[in-house]
Amino acid sequence: MIISVASGKGGTGKTTIAVNLALSLRNVQLLDCDVEEPNAHIFLKPEIKETFSAFIPIPEVDSEKCNTCGKCREVCAYHAIAVIPSNGETKGSVLVFPHLCHGCGACSLLCPQKAIKEVHKEIGIVEIGTAKGIQFVHGKLNVGEVMSPPLIRQVEDRIDPTKTVIIDAPPGTSCPVIAAVKKSDYCILVTEPTPFGLNDLVLAVEVLRKIRIPFGVVINRSDIGDDKVDKYCQGNKIPILLRIPFDKGIALLYSRGIPLVQEKVEYKDKFRKLFDCINKLSVLKAK
Ligand code: SF4
Ligand code: SF4
Repeated sequence: MIISVASGKGGTGKTTIAVNLALSLRNVQLLDCDVEEPNAHIFLKPEIKETFSAFIPIPEVDSEKCNTCGKCREVCAYHAIAVIPSNGETKGSVLVFPHLCHGCGACSLLCPQKAIKEVHKEIGIVEIGTAKGIQFVHGKLNVGEVMSPPLIRQVEDRIDPTKTVIIDAPPGTSCPVIAAVKKSDYCILVTEPTPFGLNDLVLAVEVLRKIRIPFGVVINRSDIGDDKVDKYCQGNKIPILLRIPFDKGIALLYSRGIPLVQEKVEYKDKFRKLFDCINKLSVLKAK
């Protein structure tokens, strides 16, 4: 089973849930797909056994073969190519904007002159290791690089189907989140009972409903704020899987990079129950 942990906004406790759920179960693989700011390793302190660079293919145009027909610009959905036509006196040219390129390969495939070859551009690294009995994989996007979905896909290429896989997804509701959660059987949305938490939860719910991934909610710092998240979940038949109250002790552990279940062992049971609950909900959904 693949369970992703996501949130409409950062700072809700998404990584806390992913890490502590992983530490409460057996035969687990944890993938940190929050590749812009991975931090699960701070809690798990994995021993990294393998590191490799992640690349995307970027077009390189042979100006001798190119006749500036413009086909590559037409097919590029990401506006990563501009074509400057010949004006009769000067030869035209093609400009590639590597930071906009998603490496989809459409331009090189469809160039009528076969003037485009692909060159590899490094976008980050993937590291693989083990931590406290958990198989650990994370991606780290290069500083200044914006193209996180291809790196997320390369982290997810390492999914081990023989294990319970937990994916720590990036925060938000845009392409990187979809790239991270789309293979999951179930998604845990982590939120907090504040107007900001509710606003971003509603957006995240819309995304998951669109891509048809079943989900439930964990309310972190559940005894602060108001009851609007509860009412929203009740009104929309969204299961609340777990509530974690605001607790100075938990905040202290977090600030020291210590997993919650390591010091407050009673939470292991709560996370196991959360997992059982997801299993039951998934079985019901499949019937
Ligand atoms: S499709 Fe090929 S030939 Fe046409 S402008 Fe692009 S690179 Fe040049
Ligand atoms: S590889 Fe895809 S995204 Fe990149 S320039 Fe070509 S068509 Fe655009």
